[in-house]
Amino acid sequence: DRLVTVSANADDEAIEKALRPRRLADYVGQPAMREQMEIFIQAARNRDEALDHLLIFGPPGLGKTTLAHIVANEMGVSLRQTSGPVLEKAGDLAALLTNLEPGDVLFVDEIHRLSAPVEEVLYPAMEDQKIDIMIGEGPTARSIKLDLPPFTLVGATTRAGLLTSPLRARFGIVQRLEYYGADDLAYIVTRSAQLLKLPLEEAGAREIARRARGTPRIANRLLRRVRDFAEVKADGRITAEVADAALRMLCVDDSGFDEQDRRLLLTIMDKFDGGPVGLDNLAAAIGEERGTIEEVLEPYLIQQGFIMRTPRGRMATANAYTHFNRPPPGRIVT
Ligand code: ADP
Repeated sequence: DRLVTVSANADDEAIEKALRPRRLADYVGQPAMREQMEIFIQAARNRDEALDHLLIFGPPGLGKTTLAHIVANEMGVSLRQTSGPVLEKAGDLAALLTNLEPGDVLFVDEIHRLSAPVEEVLYPAMEDQKIDIMIGEGPTARSIKLDLPPFTLVGATTRAGLLTSPLRARFGIVQRLEYYGADDLAYIVTRSAQLLKLPLEEAGAREIARRARGTPRIANRLLRRVRDFAEVKADGRITAEVADAALRMLCVDDSGFDEQDRRLLLTIMDKFDGGPVGLDNLAAAIGEERGTIEEVLEPYLIQQGFIMRTPRGRMATANAYTHFNRPPPGRIVT
């Protein structure tokens, strides 16, 4: 498993629950989103209504699930959680919807992966709090309409572009989460260290934050691995030196890149003269799936300006050459 991968592994899940902030005030960073949500939540509460349907998008590990739970918590309602691929049949969704209590939050992760028949059930549910379900089969089949209690659908997606427009149009609130800055990440690991009762120095927190790819999930994971190192190789205190030595040993470099990132960048630079190179060629050259490159490897590299997406393929930028201490192509003096 990659140490800096954005997807949650089994080890992450239990601990993430414990580290999740429960109130909006404890949610670090994303100031614009927080300010808006505070107002929307307060207004809905004052009117004694369910919050409008909320769509959250952003890369994995940035706090979408956390935000969904906070919304339910702040509204004083329960949250039911499911995901796009889990809802196979229209009836699966109907069963969930008809079991909601007034005001409840239904959280659908990976909402871009809903099947068309399931999505069809969702439209009237979101718009008119009604569903049509088919009872029976063949000639005796009939459809019945059911009224639903008011509820809030919170949908999360990493790929906003894959959402159908009728679905998107039914969300009253849309929030996009951004990668976190180093200060916010340092604050997040400091908070986590307190909860886990780990002695973490401020400079140690900064060292971890700098290499966490703008992602709270990765920051918390690096903290746990650095803790192991600190306990075995030092006296348990997480200083800047300990954090640096631990992350070096784990092959996470100064920019938070691991072997796979470096391989991707070096392949574009060395095998394809800096690009542009098409996604399929690149995938074949590094022996990865095309989807893995697109969804897991490159978003952060693009956001940080190490790779550029062009109509003819991916290109390594001047930043990438600087990272490896090399002159950019075209500027080599003989
Ligand atoms: P996503 O659903 O976007 O993949 P999660 O909500 O599961 O991400 O967040 C992953 C971990 O990162 C959680 O354990 C949570 O504690 C932490 N986290 C995410 N966002 C924040 C934040 N804004 N402040 C503090 N911790 C956060």
